[in-house]
Amino acid sequence: MAVDVELVDAAISLVRNRFGSEDGAGAAAMRLADGTVLTSVGPTAPNSAVELCHEVGAICEAYKLGVPVVASVCVINAPDGHWVLAPCGVCQERLFAYGPEVEVGVPNLADPRTWRTLRLRDLQPHWFGRVFPDEDAWPV
Ligand SMILES: [Zn+2]
Repeated sequence: MAVDVELVDAAISLVRNRFGSEDGAGAAAMRLADGTVLTSVGPTAPNSAVELCHEVGAICEAYKLGVPVVASVCVINAPDGHWVLAPCGVCQERLFAYGPEVEVGVPNLADPRTWRTLRLRDLQPHWFGRVFPDEDAWPV
């Protein structure tokens, strides 16, 4: 199931409720295989090097529940609205645990308030694990 308006709105709702219009504040929303929508935010810390991405809380919750993630989106407050951000490389690796069909929101660069959906396999077609011939080309 694709990243859709419901999922993006869930992330935007969390940003609004938790941070108001604080510039740069963000949140993530994920849809699980059973339709559950999880949301999370990345906590701040005195040492920014130990902070976590907004997606991490939802990834941990999905793992705890034992239900695969099928779609993920991250949004941040921006001066002109809410921007969708593609998952960082580390979160892409975390999401690859659920396979290359996981769909993620990516911004349209001309206007990051608009977005489209890509599968992980399309976002990262040269993912490192594909090179090992004695394993599946993609994890499941
Ligand atoms: Zn990340």
